[in-house]
Amino acid sequence: MSAGAYRSGRDHRGDLTLDCDVVIVGSGAGGATVATELALSGLRVVVLEEGPNVPGELLGQMRPSESLRHVWRDGAITAALGIGDTPTINVTMGRCVGGSSVLTGGVCFRIPDPVLASWTSDLGLADFTPRTMERYFAHVEKAIHVEEVPVQLRSQSTQRFVEGAARMGFEVKPMRRNTEGCEGCGRCNFGCPHMAKLSVDRSYLPRAVAAGADVWSHARVAKVIMDGRRAVGVRGRLLNGEGGAPGSKLTVRASKVVLAGGAWFTPNLLKRSGVGHPRWVGTGLTLHPGFRVLARFDRPVEGWKGALQSAYVDAFEHEGITLTGLFIPTGMLGATMPGVGVEHAQNAAKIGHLAMFGGILHDEGGGTVHRWFGHDPVVTYRMAPRDRARIPRIVNLMAETFFAAGAREVFLPVLGLRGVDADGLKRVPWEKIHGRQIECTSQHPLGSARMGSSEHNSVTDAWGRVWNTEGLWIADGSILPTSLGVNPQLSIMSVATRVAWRLRG
Ligand SMILES: Cc1cc2nc3c(=O)[nH]c(=O)nc-3n(C[C@H](O)[C@H](O)[C@H](O)COP(=O)(O)OP(=O)(O)OC[C@H]3O[C@@H](n4cnc5c(N)ncnc54)[C@H](O)[C@@H]3O)c2cc1C
Ligand code: SF4
Repeated sequence: MSAGAYRSGRDHRGDLTLDCDVVIVGSGAGGATVATELALSGLRVVVLEEGPNVPGELLGQMRPSESLRHVWRDGAITAALGIGDTPTINVTMGRCVGGSSVLTGGVCFRIPDPVLASWTSDLGLADFTPRTMERYFAHVEKAIHVEEVPVQLRSQSTQRFVEGAARMGFEVKPMRRNTEGCEGCGRCNFGCPHMAKLSVDRSYLPRAVAAGADVWSHARVAKVIMDGRRAVGVRGRLLNGEGGAPGSKLTVRASKVVLAGGAWFTPNLLKRSGVGHPRWVGTGLTLHPGFRVLARFDRPVEGWKGALQSAYVDAFEHEGITLTGLFIPTGMLGATMPGVGVEHAQNAAKIGHLAMFGGILHDEGGGTVHRWFGHDPVVTYRMAPRDRARIPRIVNLMAETFFAAGAREVFLPVLGLRGVDADGLKRVPWEKIHGRQIECTSQHPLGSARMGSSEHNSVTDAWGRVWNTEGLWIADGSILPTSLGVNPQLSIMSVATRVAWRLRG
């Protein structure tokens, strides 16, 4: 078997036509996993990735602002438009070889047992039991080296929260992450300077290439080529025009097509290709809406020292709430502080004394991916009343925990609201705060082309095969049929492994 190669559509001159066994659209968590499993089984694999190929060594040296420009989609300003009393949600994604996997904090969770139970009992996905999923989880965990974050790598930011939680009476558990040799420098989201984070560009794709796969960067797919009901390839453009604009024609013919562009783009590709039922394609998108609370302490915190994400709380899982430790680079943190001019400078000067924690909602699928003019979709999101009602709860929970640890004031994710002390927290007029005033982010789009038990309730079958088509599969976050309540990369990769093993027969 001869090795494949990393190739750049930007450097290619003229139109490009390729033939292979399997073409995979997208090189992120799902795409890289499928590509590797299939290349290792001897199939001729071509991976097409819209974004650039930025080697880990280079990414680890970039400033956060450079990382945002080069590997984050739209410089991290993509948003799901909130409908009604829903916040507009800033949804961040990767756009590079390795996809969003390159940007993670390394956090790894298996699909929680209660979620699997709901898939088997409510959705008819009978094969998704903890026992049957065990081998996929274990296989991926080995490939990406999942390990527990040692307590000594915790930042003081997380440690303060742990102290508050102990006083409040709930447990903070150690996180598991895909790292090896982590030095706790806290900048995982912008590239690991120590090459310790084993995202798929480091753990999976090199094995795929060694086994013969070709990985094309700057190669954007616009459509699946259908011959009747059979997918026979894809077409699009190489981004080799002026300034990286779409240029030469790209055509890849294959006996199998796997879509892994992520939950934002895969349904859009299906719509552009006229595949799938409109009732299901692009609907039911979940986001894990996320909220951050900052807390100021008298003692220095210097929260940037320590593993980016080292601990989490599942004690409120029954309320659909998961809390996780995190920190953001100091420059960005300064920019998020409230106030203008002198007041802002004074607040920004406090960042050495700030701790931070985040929380996500285990949401119902209120998002829709709409086909729009041009390449990108427009995405809307209507938060379910149950989820909207949980926002004050998740924010107060984090704020109260920090006060229990001795914080002087907290900064809530409410636009225009100054820092509040413990009494002020009780007076925050949540009932008058409109969704648009709430700062909400998401890193976990899922479920917009979900799998299910029949063509009448889903886009694919339980193995990621698109209903009523032949040769067309999906293997990314879009097929997960519900949100998980926990960070999804390991779940996506495990489900993608399952798709790959089925596909190779
Ligand atoms: C900042 C950040 C931090 C995160 N932290 C964590 C974490 O700690 N733990 C965790 O579990 N999860 C984390 N996540 C989420 C996790 O990274 C994603 O859930 C996961 O990578 C999604 O996998 P995917 O295969 O669905 O899509 P992606 O990994 O996003 O890959 C999709 C790829 O397809 C490409 N693509 C899209 N359309 C086309 C097209 N038409 N042609 C060619 N290429 C295309 C995209 O450019 C992209 O590279 C984080 C995400 C972000 C953004
Ligand atoms: S905290 Fe660890 S994994 Fe994250 S960037 Fe630093 S060394 Fe890398």
